[in-house]
This record gives sequence, C-alpha cells and structure tokens, in this order.
Amino acid sequence: MERRDLQKVFLTRNNMQTIPNGTCPKCSQLSMLLLDCNAFLNHIPDEFFNNMPALKVLDLSDTMIERLPTSLFNLKCLTVLLLSGCAKLSYIPSLGKLKRLISLDLSSTAITEAPTGLESLVNLRCLHLLPIEKLKMSASLLSKLINLECLEVDWAEWSTDARGQGTRGLKKLEVVAHFRDISVFNNFVSFLTHNCVRSYRLTLQDAKYYVDRCSFHQSHREYSVKKILIKDMVLGSEKVILPGDIEKLVIKNYRQGTGNRSLCSVLSYGHNNKPSQTELLEINLSSDLQFLYCCNCPFCFSTQLVGCLKITAVKLKDLVSPYADSLHQSTLFSHLTDLSIWGCNSMEALMTPKLLAHLQNLRTISVVACRQMKEMVGAEEDHSSGDLMVLLCNHLPHPTVTLPKLTSLKLHSMPQLDFVYRGTMLCPSLQTFSAMYCEQLNHPQMAISNDGGGLLMEKTPTGYCWRINIDQPVPYLTSFKFC
Ligand SMILES: [Zn+2]
Repeated sequence: MERRDLQKVFLTRNNMQTIPNGTCPKCSQLSMLLLDCNAFLNHIPDEFFNNMPALKVLDLSDTMIERLPTSLFNLKCLTVLLLSGCAKLSYIPSLGKLKRLISLDLSSTAITEAPTGLESLVNLRCLHLLPIEKLKMSASLLSKLINLECLEVDWAEWSTDARGQGTRGLKKLEVVAHFRDISVFNNFVSFLTHNCVRSYRLTLQDAKYYVDRCSFHQSHREYSVKKILIKDMVLGSEKVILPGDIEKLVIKNYRQGTGNRSLCSVLSYGHNNKPSQTELLEINLSSDLQFLYCCNCPFCFSTQLVGCLKITAVKLKDLVSPYADSLHQSTLFSHLTDLSIWGCNSMEALMTPKLLAHLQNLRTISVVACRQMKEMVGAEEDHSSGDLMVLLCNHLPHPTVTLPKLTSLKLHSMPQLDFVYRGTMLCPSLQTFSAMYCEQLNHPQMAISNDGGGLLMEKTPTGYCWRINIDQPVPYLTSFKFC
C-alpha cells in the first residue's frame, strides 16, 4: 500500500478488528491517523508505522490493543498520542525517543506505573492518567516535566524521594488528582508546598465509594482554582494536610473519628507562613461535628475565610467553640462575605453577639430549615472565669452591632425561631429581608426601618418580606434596625 500524498486518515468507528502482520503502509506525508473507537481492534503489527515518518497525531483511544507496535516508538515527529480507554493496555515500552510529544493520554488504561522514558519528554504539556487505579509515580519524575501545563492523575502511591526539591518549572501546571489514602494525599501536598503550581483540584475519597467516574469529573469542572474536595472519609486518625494557598475546601459526607469534636482537629496546613485564605468552605452531610473551629489551635490561627461559608445538613451545634478566643474569631470570620446554613437541626442559635460583631464584610445571610433554631444570634455566655456549668445562665447584655455591608437576610422554615437578635442590629445596606415559615417570629419586635420610605413590607400567608421599593428608591438607606 503506497499513498505518498495522504495527509490525514480518519478511521474512527470503522469496525476494524485486526491489522494483519506485514501491513506497513507507505504514507510519507501522513500527519494524522485516527483509529479510535474501533472497539474490537486488538492487534497492530510491529512494523505498521515504519513508513509514516511525518506522523504527528495518533489516536488509538477506545480500542482493545494489548501492546503497542514497536515502530510507534520511532515516530520522532509525534506530538499527540491518545490511548485513553485502551483497557487491556498494561505495559508501555520506553517513550524516551518521542521527544516532541506534547500531549499523552493514558487515562483508563491498565498501566500501574508511569511509562519509562516519560521524564525525558520535556515538551510534554498535557498528561492524562485518570482514572487509573494503583498508579505509582515519583515526585522527582514530575518535577522533570518542566513544561507540563495539564496533569490529570489518580495516585495510589506517591513516592516521596524528592518532595522537598523545589522546581521552578511547574508554575504553569494545573493538576487534577484523585487520592484514596490520607498519607499519599499528604505526601503530595508536601510536594505542592515546595513546588508552586498554577492550580490544583484534588479529591480525597475513600476507595470503597470511588465508583462514579462521572461525578468525579463533574466535581472538578472549574478551572484555575486551588480546590480540595474531601468526600466519604472517616477523619481523625491522621490529620489531612492542606496546602497553604488553598482557595476552596469542600467536605462532603464525612464522619469524625472518636474524640474529635471540631473540623479544625482533623485538618492542618503544610506550612504556616501567613493566614490561608479560603474563599469557599462548603460542608455537606457530615456527622458528629460539634463546632467548626476552636479558635485556639494552629490551624485556626492560620485560617481566614474570605468568601462563602456554606453548611448543609450537618449535625453542628455552633460555628465556633464556646471557649473561642475573640481575636481569632475576628481573623477567621472578618472577611467572610456570604453565610449559608441549611438543614442544621442541632443548632439553637447561629452565632453569638461576639461573632456577629466580627462579620463586618458579610453581604448575605441565609438560614433555612434549621428546625431547632430559636434565635439567629443567641446569648453570649461568660466563660471568662469560673465553672462553665455555674455560669451558663450568666448571659451578657446584648450590644448594638452594625453589619455595614449586609444586603440580604433570609430566614426560612424555622418553626422555633422567635428572635433575630435581642440587641440592636443595624444594617444600613440591607435591601432584602425575608422570613418565611417562621411562625414564632413576631413582626413588631423584630424589624424597624429608620426611614422605611424606600422599603416595601409584604405580609404573606407564611411570613414577612421586606424589599426595596423599586418605584420609589431611596438613594441611600441609612439604617435598618432589628431590635
Ligand atoms: Zn482550632
């Protein structure tokens, strides 16, 4: 077969089964060959690529090949090699000669180790190794791929031979990685703290729950973020180490090991140079947590929530420990902009007046379906001296608190709620307040607008709703007061 003028050949979904031995087409101009999605293609002869010296793009994805033909490894012009979904491919000879390779996709193959020669592919920009169970890889190998921009990987083992070795070349790298084991995860985070990368989206998930590949990909749709998802894990025996530059932390469906009452007791940072700014902390369906932060440990000292805190269906009693240090509550919460709580049925009050006073950047509060919630802001308890039990009833007076940036306050479906705040809460930027299905909440006691001309109050069968009157807008609503 001789077709010197052929440049591109598309044989995708062509029901090919095998290519007979001795087949060696002469296609000196061929730059692209797509053989993907031939689900029964199980053999390509060793000499097949001998006369395709210009081949740049080769797609063998979703075929049944068990080994790659030897002639493939001499394709010196090859820039893209796609082998995704070759479920029977368990061994790949050295890739060392494919020096021009830019993109290599080995996802969903049967390999268990990174192919030999990978470290010399210095032009490699994209490497897909997800999901591959039992994959082993070393830090020293990764740090040699200095042009890597996109890495998708599923690590069973991460060898720590050179984790402390700093590299300048990984600043362009975006990593998507999945881990099943806390210590392997922690070792990789250690590597991250010494090797600055552009972004990472890491998932730590118990192996027995790791069956749904699609949901994993969906959970990582965002790009260019530094995000960690911890899912279906029992935490406590070994702390999970977080990178100091983490932006988003999502914790779903986790169970606390015995003896740990707070979130901060199971997390730590890889380094403590400066406060770590978490733009999103989302906790969902976790059990046995009494509070999130103790405000009295190295993790709490180093954390700053700068965006949204979202808690859903967690058996949480308080956001912070009753003994929380006020200064560190301020560091933690003073940059929070959005607070959303849904279905936390053990909470009787969302926060104390002290914590409320620290929420100076808060823009929205949404508290929904917390069946035991009696007050949005509860009483401050004096734990400054003496025995807690004696002083439990010794409530401090309620100070006047201003939330200068609060624009929206939503309290829904809380049948026990009878007070927003027993002190005075000034909300000069408030635009929307709504309280629906909060039958105990009395209108006169809870909301007075100082110059309510711009506010419309709507009484509905289920509650009260105040909104800015769009027909008669006020240029600046000076004060909206709960007392
Ligand atoms: Zn703590």
